Amino acid sequence: MAEIDGVRLVDSLQKLRSFGANGTGVVRPTFSAIDMEARAWLRAQMRDAGLDAVVDGAGNVFGKSPNPGPTLVIGSHSDTQPNGGWLDGAMGVMYGIEIARALLADPSTAHLAIDAVAWSDEEATYTSCLGSRSFVGELDDKALADTNAEGETVSDAIARVGLSDVPQVRFDSGRHIGYLEAHIEQGPHLEESDLLIGAVTSIVGIRGFEITFTGEQNHAGTTPMHRRKDAGVAMFEFATRAAKRIASVAGPKTVWTFGDARLEPGAPSIIPGVARLVLQFRDADDAILESIAGVVQELAAEMNNEQGVVISAPPGRSPILPTHMDEGLRTHIERAAESRVPGKWVAMPSAAGHDPMVLSNHLPCAMLFIPSIGGVSHDFSEDSLTPDIVLGCQVLADAAASILSEAQP
Ligand SMILES: [Zn+2]
Repeated sequence: MAEIDGVRLVDSLQKLRSFGANGTGVVRPTFSAIDMEARAWLRAQMRDAGLDAVVDGAGNVFGKSPNPGPTLVIGSHSDTQPNGGWLDGAMGVMYGIEIARALLADPSTAHLAIDAVAWSDEEATYTSCLGSRSFVGELDDKALADTNAEGETVSDAIARVGLSDVPQVRFDSGRHIGYLEAHIEQGPHLEESDLLIGAVTSIVGIRGFEITFTGEQNHAGTTPMHRRKDAGVAMFEFATRAAKRIASVAGPKTVWTFGDARLEPGAPSIIPGVARLVLQFRDADDAILESIAGVVQELAAEMNNEQGVVISAPPGRSPILPTHMDEGLRTHIERAAESRVPGKWVAMPSAAGHDPMVLSNHLPCAMLFIPSIGGVSHDFSEDSLTPDIVLGCQVLADAAASILSEAQP
């Protein structure tokens, strides 16, 4: 069985960390100068691993195996959040390269084909999952017109970094049989349960509402209480009741957040005429999301016109459906985990979004999680234990070898 080189893996991760290092964290937003330097370095790493590597027209670094036959794509994204951690994305990218190296170096697996990838802009500096959308041919004009915080469009950024005339690497249905991605969990579940590997079952769906309460703005001193149509009071009451009702239909892993609440005009001596509340909820089960949507709409209808305040509750953000990982591929990850660390793994949903949300519509996907210390991510303090990082790569390498061996003609 092919053994990965844990020292080489961790050294290469530390090297990638140095591109944009900021204390213990990393600042490497997509298409920044440092991001492009990191991509050039990743291309060199892939070439050194024996892959035919390019930075493509969407900024993806893609390393193609010289081997023919059924091929797995393995990787993640190499861009970071504005104040990102050093492992988010980066770890999965270096796993792909290390697994390609390890399988090529072992005579029993040297004939198997691994394509390594570092996607661009998963973190939506410009537009979410830019690289994976390009790979599956879903990058439309609307996405290319999306901008970063400075107002630069995707198209302009691609031109600025000199990739306008470079072709985009595309998914090859005759070659690619699946996509594997390892990631830090970014939550506390594995650590709290004293487990080492998560085999991801699905990525949660996301829905939301933007609820508006329209009352009557008036003087906070002269308006008697019985004559008020206070949009703020209605909003607070709604939020309190909604939280109870959502809890009554939620599943054990459902999360919901009132992430924004505003009173207009928002002054001490004015009764708010309008209040706005933003609700977002996530679960891997679309039926649960549907139930939550139902109770929220029911409550809005029930409370409408109570004390003269009109409530409208249209859906907010465009909903994201739960994404299901491929069960066949997942079984290989579970078997590999059971073999390396019996009883120390679990099948679990992902509460964060990842590139397989895009890719899984075109090819079977599977994901593996390793524990995050303290469940912290999207922060400079994000970290994982070195033995956990090494173990995750070995388990994914075992799974990849087993998937490809089974798929040989
Ligand atoms: Zn990530």
